[in-house]
Amino acid sequence: MTDDEIFDKWHEECGVFGIFGHPNAAQLTYYALVALQHRGQESAGIATVDGLKLYHQKGMGLVAEAIPNEAMPRLSKGHASVGHVRYSTTGVSQLLNAQPLVFNFQRGNMALAHNGNLVNAHQLHSFLERRGAIFQSTSDTEVVAHLIARAGNPDMADNIREALSIVKGAYAFCILTDDKLYAMRDANGLRPMVLGKIGDAYCVSSESCAFDTIGAEIIRDIEPGEMLIISKDGIESTRFASASKRALCTFEYIYFARPDSDIDGFNVHAVRKDFGKLLYREHPVEADVVIGVPDSSISSAIGYAEESGIPYEIGLIKNRYIGRTFIQPSQELRARGVKLKLNAVRRIVEGKRVVMIDDSIVRGTTSGRIVDMLREAGAVEVHVRIASPPVTHSCFYGIDTSARDELIASKKSVEQIREYIGADTLAYLSEGTMMQAFGIMDGKDHGHCNACFNGKYPTEVYEDLSKSIMDR
Ligand code: SF4
Repeated sequence: MTDDEIFDKWHEECGVFGIFGHPNAAQLTYYALVALQHRGQESAGIATVDGLKLYHQKGMGLVAEAIPNEAMPRLSKGHASVGHVRYSTTGVSQLLNAQPLVFNFQRGNMALAHNGNLVNAHQLHSFLERRGAIFQSTSDTEVVAHLIARAGNPDMADNIREALSIVKGAYAFCILTDDKLYAMRDANGLRPMVLGKIGDAYCVSSESCAFDTIGAEIIRDIEPGEMLIISKDGIESTRFASASKRALCTFEYIYFARPDSDIDGFNVHAVRKDFGKLLYREHPVEADVVIGVPDSSISSAIGYAEESGIPYEIGLIKNRYIGRTFIQPSQELRARGVKLKLNAVRRIVEGKRVVMIDDSIVRGTTSGRIVDMLREAGAVEVHVRIASPPVTHSCFYGIDTSARDELIASKKSVEQIREYIGADTLAYLSEGTMMQAFGIMDGKDHGHCNACFNGKYPTEVYEDLSKSIMDR
């Protein structure tokens, strides 16, 4: 059971990192992956090249488990590297699906690392299999590898362009060959990706927090539809697609990204804090104390407290020492799992009217348990405020959401959800108000994907394939 399962949250798919032209490429990639660990804990991997050979190491578990010390001397021969962390799941938790995926084909070596989801991977997988392709994994990343290998152009960049012109969906891609690092962000910019520099070496990452960790400076976000080609000759920016309607995933700000990351010009902590301030303006309440559900709701709770003048307190404590192998399958023990992972601070909430800020509600089960926990600890009123709109639709872009009918807001009204979780009051930040945190005041064309709140998907989707054979 993972943190996300205990807390009834969605799962981020993956984090990617790449660097070219640094003598410590493997070591820096290792540190960067540790910084991106929140984006995936199922498996991790690093591939490096020295111009002639490709070295790689992948394993299950956290970065420190997946890439043992003994692997580092071999990986450290490379001057360029890509790394990947993959999210926790069940059933398909296989080393075969760990990335980077490594291939040796007629034009040399290739290592691919991918964050996101291709909405037409299932169709492309079938198409390629009918033409004799043999797949090693169930990952849709391999579909792209096959498409690249089949493209017959002399130039690798053209092969990547040709492959990406066929795939649809959300992605941040890093591809390492013997002499170049390619970095691509999907045409809608659904998944984040940022460019940085350390010394003379360029690096790319799913999130900028990895740059802070390795001492790199942020240069800029990679544009939707942009392909960066990094080699010994420097960096070249080209396009593989014209930018479609910009649609960065708002959930990166709400929940997935680290608060110290900047995405498309906005700091995640600052945005969450603004969500909290806006939430108070939209849904004020008289109370004695504001608390946040750790960790992703803390910034919004601070914002709500600042705006309202109600003191902010740490009212819930998270146990950070429960490992990945913590398994509690039964419903009864699942409730115990929440208690093991989270506890109320009695001295803070006893006899108080508590405002509990959470970033989102998925199925509602955990919210109800936390409300119960606060009442057991003596809270006289529990007012739940959610720093995002009700989640009514599934995601098809690399976020492992529940099926739509498991999303509590897809079938219950706010009042019914309030009753279900046992709160005194419940209110959500509206979509229009949420977008004010990005300076958007008209609620119109805002350059973000909010499809899980409003069902307006920025690309074609293939609903029947939401749980496709690609296991993504
Ligand atoms: S549907 Fe929701 S979770 Fe998925 S990309 Fe859009 S905003 Fe993000």
